[in-house]
Amino acid sequence: MVRRVLITGGAGFIGSHTCLVLLEQGHELVVLDNFDNSSPEALRRVQELAGSTQLNLVEGDVRDPSAVDQAFSAAGTVDGVIHFAGLKAVEESVSDPLHYWDVNVNGSRVLAAAMDRHGCRTLVFSSTSTAYGKPETFPLREDMPTAPVNPYAETKVAVEQMLTALCRSGSWQVACLRYFNPVGAHPSGRIGEDPMGIPNNLFPFMTQVAAGRRDRLLIFGQDYPTPDGTCIRDYLHVMDLAEAHGMALEHLWERTTPDPLTLNIGTGRGLSVLEMVRGFEQATGLTIPLEFVGRRPGDVPRSLASPEKAQTVLGWSAHRTLEEMCRDGWSWQQGNPAGYRQNP
Ligand code: NAD
Ligand code: UDP
Repeated sequence: MVRRVLITGGAGFIGSHTCLVLLEQGHELVVLDNFDNSSPEALRRVQELAGSTQLNLVEGDVRDPSAVDQAFSAAGTVDGVIHFAGLKAVEESVSDPLHYWDVNVNGSRVLAAAMDRHGCRTLVFSSTSTAYGKPETFPLREDMPTAPVNPYAETKVAVEQMLTALCRSGSWQVACLRYFNPVGAHPSGRIGEDPMGIPNNLFPFMTQVAAGRRDRLLIFGQDYPTPDGTCIRDYLHVMDLAEAHGMALEHLWERTTPDPLTLNIGTGRGLSVLEMVRGFEQATGLTIPLEFVGRRPGDVPRSLASPEKAQTVLGWSAHRTLEEMCRDGWSWQQGNPAGYRQNP
């Protein structure tokens, strides 16, 4: 059944891959994005890949009620909303917490109020595994307490709480997806992650080293209580994550339970920094020059999802391999050395 979906932040890394999945499923999309951290070129390529022009773009800020209203009007009726628009840099959230509360929390509040006005109460929200803070027991399950340790994670937990209250107030269907570490790109290499400036995250930094844009990868900490001393994360292919959004929406459209649905979206397999680097080298035949440096403040030694609930409730599980994450991420980097900016 063709549905109309409003996607905030649809031009970003995860949003663009999700738009592609939904267009390929035949849905009609309206994207609201202010291009704070993305380019309209991503959406042009998404439509090219999908062979569909059923994507309407409204350039605007999710904190601006009139821009959100405009997005609803552009759609006619909206059957569901996926809310990606937000900020995600932990360090920046420490130096400028008010900006994070404004964009992430106030933006979500403005969006939810507009949804209410327009009679659409089905929402998938981008949450984060950092909601769990610094846990000691693994894998992480959704019924474990949240304990955010930085303003970024605090804002995501605050939005989860706001959405829980909305669900209790009646007639909302909400899924909070707690993403682990999405990496890679669409296998075409046409869309991918396009960080501005120096990447904060391991994967895009590593692909830029592979491309010769940076001379070596700094590994932050070799003295963690893990088998090789480097931190462990649950990396998943961005296409697996994109598909989870389509499945979450389908589920919400059928669901009647009033509570919000909170789901981990990860693989359940942990990889150390060194294992990720070795996996990339194996998949691409390249060598990544490395340097071990001190720990990065705020890093947790380990993060690992229990993906069981997403499997049970949605029938979703990550099925793409580390090799595919590395191969697809590298093909995006090789084809687009300067991201979208080089190929307007
Ligand atoms: P991204 O920066 O690539 O995408 C975010 C998109 O939102 C961009 O297109 C940006 O221009 C847009 N945007 C930002 N502020 C906006 C505003 N005020 N109004 C309208 N549009 C705005 O990030 P991403 O990696 O695709 O992440 C998407 C969402 O998932 C974010 O909310 C992020 O916090 C969350 N998340 C990401 C990760 C990750 O590892 N990438 C992990 C957990 C959660
Ligand atoms: N990391 C690293 N060098 C980098 C970037 C990241 O060694 O240039 C490490 C980081 O310390 C962490 C892991 O890689 O242990 C994943 O970091 P990322 O920022 O990608 O994800 P997050 O820590 O937010 O889960």
